[in-house]
This record gives sequence, C-alpha cells and structure tokens, in this order.
Amino acid sequence: MAKKPTREERDRMCTRKRRYATQADALTAAAILGVERNRTAYRCPLCGRWHLSSVR
Ligand SMILES: [Zn+2]
Repeated sequence: MAKKPTREERDRMCTRKRRYATQADALTAAAILGVERNRTAYRCPLCGRWHLSSVR
C-alpha cells in the first residue's frame, strides 16, 4: 500500500491539473496541444478522473 499523499503531493498530482473524463479525452487534449508524444494519461486515484503526465 502506497503511503498517503501529502496535501502538497495531492496538489501536484491532482488539484492543479486539468481533469478529463476519459483517457481518450486526455489524449485528444494532448494531441490538440501538440504534445501527445511526451504526455501520457493516467487515471487519478484521488479524483477518479484522468490527468496528463510528462514522459521522459
Ligand atoms: Zn485527480
């Protein structure tokens, strides 16, 4: 079991991010921004929506 995120971590991984209803929505948004090659969508364990994350 992962440790509980702190408020700071929640802000970084969820609260400050744009939310998408579905993975397709998130990836479409990334494509519109032209950043689909270095973004990935993940299902957020905090809000149950999807966010985009940078890929290195
Ligand atoms: Zn979230």
